[in-house]
Amino acid sequence: MKSDQENQLYSLLRKAGMKATPGHLTILSFIQKSKKPISSQDIINGIDRHLDPATVYRCVTKLKENGIIRQIDLRQNNAHYEFFDMAHHHHIICTGCGRIEDIEDCNLETVHQQILGQTKGFTQIKHHSLEFYGLCKKCNSKN
Ligand SMILES: [Zn+2]
Ligand SMILES: [Zn+2]
Ligand SMILES: [Zn+2]
Repeated sequence: MKSDQENQLYSLLRKAGMKATPGHLTILSFIQKSKKPISSQDIINGIDRHLDPATVYRCVTKLKENGIIRQIDLRQNNAHYEFFDMAHHHHIICTGCGRIEDIEDCNLETVHQQILGQTKGFTQIKHHSLEFYGLCKKCNSKN
């Protein structure tokens, strides 16, 4: 018997047109369990199964292309990702040390209206992504 969580991973992989290999399942469940956006390198370092880095990169790209994970811009050298099926939130990222916190409250509906008012050819905003960059208390006190 497969658990609900496994079933969910299987169906997401199917949706992405990917085979439910042990490697793919390991990668996807690792991303799902992660509380913060992670890079392909974080996956390679974090999983307890040996996977060819090329396999991890290919898998991550495919998951992104099919909307299973989304890419987050942390202004760091490598791309970071998180599970798409999370409650909508934003991030604040320290440009000094890379600390990340989630911003849960999003009050941008009024901004949507203002933005639509400024466009010529749009009638609807479906979603947005927005990250904030700054200094954490620790990094700020170093300056
Ligand atoms: Zn997040
Ligand atoms: Zn910091
Ligand atoms: Zn938002």
